[in-house]
Amino acid sequence: MDRVLRIGPERIGAADREALALVNPANGQTVGQIPVATTADLDDALAAADMAFKSWRKVSAYDRAAILHRAAALLRERAQSIAHFMTLEQGKPVADSVLEVNGAADIFDWFAEEGRRAYGRIIPARTPGVRNMVFREPIGPVALFTPWNFPVTIPARKIAAALAAGCSCIAKPAEETPSPTLAIAQALADAGLPDGVLNIVMGVPDDISTHLIASPVIRKISFTGSTRVGKHLAGLAAAGVKPATLELGGHAPTIVFADADIEKAATMTARSKYRNAGQICIAPTRFYLHDSIHDRFVARFREVAASLRVGDGLDPATQMGPLANVRRIGAMEELVADARGAGAGLELGGERLGNQGYFWQPTILTDVPNQARIMNEEPFGPVAVTHRFSGFDEVVEQANRLPFGLSAYAFTSDGATAARIGEALESGMVGVNHMVLTTPETPFGGVKESGYGSEGGSEGLDSYLVTKFVTQG
Ligand code: NAD
Repeated sequence: MDRVLRIGPERIGAADREALALVNPANGQTVGQIPVATTADLDDALAAADMAFKSWRKVSAYDRAAILHRAAALLRERAQSIAHFMTLEQGKPVADSVLEVNGAADIFDWFAEEGRRAYGRIIPARTPGVRNMVFREPIGPVALFTPWNFPVTIPARKIAAALAAGCSCIAKPAEETPSPTLAIAQALADAGLPDGVLNIVMGVPDDISTHLIASPVIRKISFTGSTRVGKHLAGLAAAGVKPATLELGGHAPTIVFADADIEKAATMTARSKYRNAGQICIAPTRFYLHDSIHDRFVARFREVAASLRVGDGLDPATQMGPLANVRRIGAMEELVADARGAGAGLELGGERLGNQGYFWQPTILTDVPNQARIMNEEPFGPVAVTHRFSGFDEVVEQANRLPFGLSAYAFTSDGATAARIGEALESGMVGVNHMVLTTPETPFGGVKESGYGSEGGSEGLDSYLVTKFVTQG
């Protein structure tokens, strides 16, 4: 895997620049290096994206779709190799990495077709002989910033939508996990994407985003990551009156009513909680359990959690890998200690596993009071917290009490309760009785401090288009 900056036709490796080490989170060992982009590199990327936009926007949606479809097929062909590097850099079980690459290919296929449906419209005029026309046009070169937890899905959502809309891009993958984004770029290049339409830079995140967003070349940004960084980037974008799509942190309330299928809800939510070692912005996190079923739910949830095989993601037997970096270990230690100090029960786990790599035990904290930090800060790790409730209004108030509003889940066998809870939760996405929120054709995004704008669905394409009104007499 060549971990290079891709700027127009140039490929710049770590030997030619200051370099950063890449670490395998399963053992802490260095597995490669990445080059740090200089300011001149960023200016070159801006010039390349600016130049390429002028021709890419004129390529028909039909021909753009053909390139995206070919890239999707190449991603599928290369899934095993891309997955290997993804797991090496990020840690998740390699079977999950393969699924993720295939999911990214689906995203490219879907946006290829959706790009062909970016229709305008004709509006009847008040004056005979006048035609009122509305066109949808690509917004321009865009800057895309992505995190390390889904190193191929998240870049795919942004890149596929931007390219399908006719935008050129400068993408910055997380410095911890550059390979999957580079593999997307290579698949697109092999599929016929002209040089300069997709440029990849990496290095010092704030230097890169500050420089790119300030440039008049960049017309829109999209960022996935923490609320803290999202607020900062939103400010930089606002200074240039540039739209932003922000997909930030979450703290998903997961409500289990007394009439739910408890066995099914506990099994499903436990599998979902520990997927990717809990490092998912839509992971179920605050478990609001009806008082009458709390202990039964926890017993089954614990069974599933305790049975998980934790280990190196490259071992095919592994079901949960390490945390992605050492920062997450420190965060888990602090949050668990704080919750215990606030009176939470420890049902399972609660400690680092081994002294090599960044492994954390699947953890369950029970009866966690609201003042504990973990009830207010996104844990982003394999820790579930429970809290009892007895009434509908009470649990809605608890679920909505945080500034986050990305995803929420509820389990009930009553249709009326299902409808009421779907309406009552302040959340961009709500799963009732199941947890699949991420398909290419459905919108993905949050409200409140979880961000604004949607990725996926027709909304995902729309955010890379602007409306132009032309009236002709
Ligand atoms: P962080 O906020 O430092 O970084 C998150 C991501 O943003 C990283 O990929 C980083 O490269 C990038 N980033 C940081 N500063 C940036 C900047 N100025 N410009 C552009 N990109 C920048 O946090 P972290 O330690 O990597 O993760 C901690 C928290 O981030 C987690 O607890 C979680 O809340 C959040 N997070 C959310 C998602 C998500 O899917 N929404 C993904 C990863 C992390």
